[in-house]
Amino acid sequence: MPANAMPNPMALRLYNTRTRQIEPFRTLEPGHARIYVCGLTPSAEGHLGHARSFLFFDVLRRYLEHPRNGYRVTFVKNVTDVDDRSIATAKAEGTTFDRVVARFYDAFRVSMRRLNVREPDAEPYATHFVPQIVAMIGELIARDFAYVTDDGIYYRVAAFPRYGALSGKNVEELLVGARIAENEHKHDPLDFALWKFAKPDEPRWDSPWGAGRPGWHIECSAMARSLLGVPFDLHGGGYDLIFPHHENEIAQSEPLMDAPPMAVMWAHGGLLNFEGRKMSKSLGNFEPLSALLDRHDPMAIRLLFLQTGYQKPMNFTEESIAGAKAALERLQRFAFRLRAAGGTATGERSAHPAAAEFFAGLDHDMDTSSALSVLFKLANQAQGIVERGEAAATLAFVRDAAGIFGIAPAFDDAALDAFDEARAAEGALAALDASFVARLAERIGGSAHLNGDGPEAAIAAVIAARNAARKAKDFALGDRLRDALAAEGIVLKDSKDGTTWTVAAG
Ligand SMILES: [Zn+2]
Repeated sequence: MPANAMPNPMALRLYNTRTRQIEPFRTLEPGHARIYVCGLTPSAEGHLGHARSFLFFDVLRRYLEHPRNGYRVTFVKNVTDVDDRSIATAKAEGTTFDRVVARFYDAFRVSMRRLNVREPDAEPYATHFVPQIVAMIGELIARDFAYVTDDGIYYRVAAFPRYGALSGKNVEELLVGARIAENEHKHDPLDFALWKFAKPDEPRWDSPWGAGRPGWHIECSAMARSLLGVPFDLHGGGYDLIFPHHENEIAQSEPLMDAPPMAVMWAHGGLLNFEGRKMSKSLGNFEPLSALLDRHDPMAIRLLFLQTGYQKPMNFTEESIAGAKAALERLQRFAFRLRAAGGTATGERSAHPAAAEFFAGLDHDMDTSSALSVLFKLANQAQGIVERGEAAATLAFVRDAAGIFGIAPAFDDAALDAFDEARAAEGALAALDASFVARLAERIGGSAHLNGDGPEAAIAAVIAARNAARKAKDFALGDRLRDALAAEGIVLKDSKDGTTWTVAAG
């Protein structure tokens, strides 16, 4: 750490996995944050668990770029595009590994867009960086940190005394139960593959030692070095990557550096369970991310993650997502009310009286939950805010906060207008007066029985009668029933999922 980089007590502090301490976030290059986050191995369908750490680093990146911190961020997220599974799937389907990866990764990218996760500045595919990977392996061999065998090239863990420092594991502990598989020709059970020589029918790239493909760990070391340079400021990923993946990245990168460490800070996002269990095909609780996003508002999913500390293990349940959806609507209702009361204003965002508490939450290791609670506290004071004429300034602050959280689309004018329409429809329904049912009964003249349970039950009964008439091919009656509803201001909409209705505007 440069001696002149004095920590600012009013600035972001983050938990550094490597030092096990919350430390001020500083950058090696003033004003420029260089971040590498391990991306997806898209050799199968992605689920929400894969997205959790990406959602956290998206919020961190937005906060670093926010005027409060003012960093320019270079954000690299790699794609591990060749692995045993993509090769096996390609073989089974009679296609190539890159087609398998493209299929799954395209779908995942669509889901990331729906979740409003920003695209990285660079998204390197491992197979596009083979020359850099091969060069790095060559350097490790030259310094005796790696050796060539019949089946591949291995990293010599015993050559790196700091091995285990990131994860807090020691080599003796790791050796317990470690074995060398029959088909592996490594010298020590802890050694890991840098390069795997190609078996027949496997995709292969040339190297000075024989054709093959890179090991997973060396890919990230080489791509981070090529695209960001080492050392860089922050390396991130999911909690499950600390060991062995990140431990191995350090072991590969640092012996080749004049001034380690590879990354000043290491940050890891907690893992996600579903109804108390890990999501997996074998447990029968697997739901592809795209299907989950069809069922739940992506902004509510983001809010749910914000309510939990990023490092904590989290349990996704139908109940918890319903709660997050209700919380999102509460904030939208608040924003709607502020907009109705005060129009829109720009500027003064960070000067809002609640801003200090909000930013203090984020500055304390990205405690999004406490930052979010500042917004809910404001929502509870809506009446007073409107009365004091602070609506416009408060709306600007809420929208600014939503921008950092990545949920701004739920608070823009279009979303609030839609919210307005939903409210108007509720209002119109409430306005259907007591004589509505009687008038409707008179119009349909006994074609359906309206049992006097109120407007909604009467509308449902007429829709049921219309569906029955259409099924019986009595389209004239079906149309008459529809027209009767229309005359009372109820508009029907038919779709493959059934018939819905709205109260006509005006
Ligand atoms: Zn990685």
